[in-house]
Amino acid sequence: MPLQPANCGFDVGWSEHFSSRFAGHPVKAVAVTFIDAAGRSHRQQGDLMVTTTGIEGGLIYALSARLRDEIATTGAAIIYLDLTPGKDLPRVIAEIAHPRGSRSMASHLQSRANIKGVKTGLLRERVLPSDFTSPERLAASIKSLPLRLIAPRPLDEAISSAGGVAFETLNECLMVRAMPGVFCAGEMLDWEAPTGGYLLTACFASGRTAGLGALAYLKYRNI
Ligand SMILES: Cc1cc2nc3c(=O)[nH]c(=O)nc-3n(C[C@H](O)[C@H](O)[C@H](O)COP(=O)(O)OP(=O)(O)OC[C@H]3O[C@@H](n4cnc5c(N)ncnc54)[C@H](O)[C@@H]3O)c2cc1C
Repeated sequence: MPLQPANCGFDVGWSEHFSSRFAGHPVKAVAVTFIDAAGRSHRQQGDLMVTTTGIEGGLIYALSARLRDEIATTGAAIIYLDLTPGKDLPRVIAEIAHPRGSRSMASHLQSRANIKGVKTGLLRERVLPSDFTSPERLAASIKSLPLRLIAPRPLDEAISSAGGVAFETLNECLMVRAMPGVFCAGEMLDWEAPTGGYLLTACFASGRTAGLGALAYLKYRNI
């Protein structure tokens, strides 16, 4: 199977203004919802990172296989950011509807709803200016801000890969049946797992199996 990026970031296509200001900024305590083609909703909470071209980080890697496959099938994947996962929509509406007096909208959002920095930047990047005058519409965007992902980042930037040599072509020692003496392990093999130790564990385990297989092969061949 052809190799594909796994546990990878994605391109969003930020404006020059947003990218130059916020690339490298972490978006902390955020939830991401993705609804796949079958209508199943996938939600994860954590932190992500804004990059020059899009987003990456543990929260995104956790959903990356589904997002990559959705982009391959439909050309894009829409995710929804919840910028205040600990508060429900009515509470956010109430916080924003509180009279702001002479304060700027940025300082109002910071003091009432704890929305600041890159989170405010994301709202400015994706929400119509007219929606900032409606507490209901602004709160709805804070709770479910759509981001259209247009491409996974390339393989050489990815944490790991999907695709590779199929297990059906190998024997139990991970030797290529059609190429005696050639063994495969780690990311060469066709498997995919989340990051967080699973990748390294499977690479070490398959490396051990292949190494022992190679030793046995050499002994058997009397090399
Ligand atoms: C930034 C980053 C963070 C990661 N964090 C985690 C984590 O927290 N937890 C986790 O489980 N996994 C993590 N991973 C994934 C994990 O590191 C990989 O899945 C694992 O190292 C892959 O092991 P491998 O032996 O298959 O390949 P590699 O570790 O890539 O080893 C392949 C080796 O082959 C060498 N090589 C390539 N071509 C040739 C050639 N032609 N001749 C000779 N040598 C060659 C390369 O130089 C390299 O040393 C992370 C990966 C990255 C990039």
